[in-house]
Amino acid sequence: MTEQEPCEVCSAPTEHKCSSCQSVHYCSREHQKQHWKLHKQQCVPARVKEDGKYGRYLEAIRSLKAGEIVMKEAPLISGPSQVTPPVCLGCYKLLEEGKTVSCQKCGWPFCSEACTRNEVHTPECYYTQQRGEKVSVSTYGVPHPNYQCITVLRCLYQRDNNPKLWSKLQALESHDEDRKGTDKWDNDRKMVAEFIWKFFKLEGTFNEDEIMKCCGIIQINGHEVPLLEPEYVAVFDKISMVEHNCRANCNKSFTSDGQIILSAGVNISAGSHLSVCYTDPLWGTEARRHHLSDSKFFECCCERCSDVTELGTMFSAVKCKKKDCKGYLLPDTFILPILHKTKSPDPSTRGLDKKFWKCGSCKDEVTDAIIQQLLQDIGRELSVMPKGEPDACERFIGHCSTYLHPSHYYMTDVSLALAQMIGQQDAMGLAGVTDDRLLLKTQLCRKITDLLEILGPGVP
Ligand SMILES: [Zn+2]
Ligand SMILES: [Zn+2]
Ligand SMILES: [Zn+2]
Ligand SMILES: [Zn+2]
Ligand SMILES: [Zn+2]
Ligand SMILES: [Zn+2]
Repeated sequence: MTEQEPCEVCSAPTEHKCSSCQSVHYCSREHQKQHWKLHKQQCVPARVKEDGKYGRYLEAIRSLKAGEIVMKEAPLISGPSQVTPPVCLGCYKLLEEGKTVSCQKCGWPFCSEACTRNEVHTPECYYTQQRGEKVSVSTYGVPHPNYQCITVLRCLYQRDNNPKLWSKLQALESHDEDRKGTDKWDNDRKMVAEFIWKFFKLEGTFNEDEIMKCCGIIQINGHEVPLLEPEYVAVFDKISMVEHNCRANCNKSFTSDGQIILSAGVNISAGSHLSVCYTDPLWGTEARRHHLSDSKFFECCCERCSDVTELGTMFSAVKCKKKDCKGYLLPDTFILPILHKTKSPDPSTRGLDKKFWKCGSCKDEVTDAIIQQLLQDIGRELSVMPKGEPDACERFIGHCSTYLHPSHYYMTDVSLALAQMIGQQDAMGLAGVTDDRLLLKTQLCRKITDLLEILGPGVP
């Protein structure tokens, strides 16, 4: 049916279409070839779809092979992290006292003369000039309050200067209602909104709703770009619509110039939703779901979160302590409404707090409070464990194997650390490692690879 679309070049009736994105049509191979230079940038094998349940999401137009690049995008907006020591506002490099160059127009410090001319700096440069007084930064190496508003200011600037970009930003999720009343909201109102009004004298220009919405857009959609230390923030357009899944089929990476790349992590069939993991797939389900709820304001109900065995891995399972029982305890479900700290708990859901963990073999039940206490104690043990000591890792694994499933996330975490340490301890590298240790390293690596295959197949 779509074969009747007019040719992209000459509008004549068409016989074929671009096989990669299937969204543009041509009368002939010649016209397709001719159009490729232009089409190349838009040719993406994924499209934005919308439905009541998922909102906007991305779907594969055709089947994708593992490792294939789905799309590459430059940021809509980039800027320094909210809490950051002074960084160059052109390239985000950390600034060192005495080694800075000030922008002649506005006074903000940069790493070099060339960076003062980077167009990303235009918004704060413009508003600083409007303010009528140059900025002077005198403390380096520690978080500086002046930087808290920069990325938000760069968004706000688009309203009057680039309406197209502004509308793309405004179309992104900001969860204003969920954020209201949180500590982060109050802090943003004080450190960002009030700073923009008072310091930049923009009280009559941007109202509270506009500023707070931009804070939300950055909080929800911003990516920390790990190309530099400290990381900076970038907001992308289409890639912001890729949904989360704790067992994602795609992954993200960055080019050295700060573009984001979305790649297929596994083979993906046409029509599938594309997903990335917004949290760490090697965290336990409770930690992942809390992190997503706190930072992204949604409760994950993906296939992995819905299955207490976590796809058979027993990644959160705790050993049954009943005499002679070799079974493992798991709760009935991990998918309970997470009560937001800021909102008073709904009395009708209070009963759900009374969660029990049940043994798969002897059916014994243990209250959630007891399990949480155990996990907290082990978590504490882990946090004070000396770093870089294989012996400490082995002691931990030995000790905790009486409480946890061998694939439990705490055991996996320490196994991974241990596997990385073996062979890195002395100058000889792996050549200086005994056969026993080498075997242990191989076993640990195989175990972790098998787990990752199930829990995070899209992870590179
Ligand atoms: Zn044509
Ligand atoms: Zn195409
Ligand atoms: Zn720079
Ligand atoms: Zn400037
Ligand atoms: Zn999930
Ligand atoms: Zn039992």
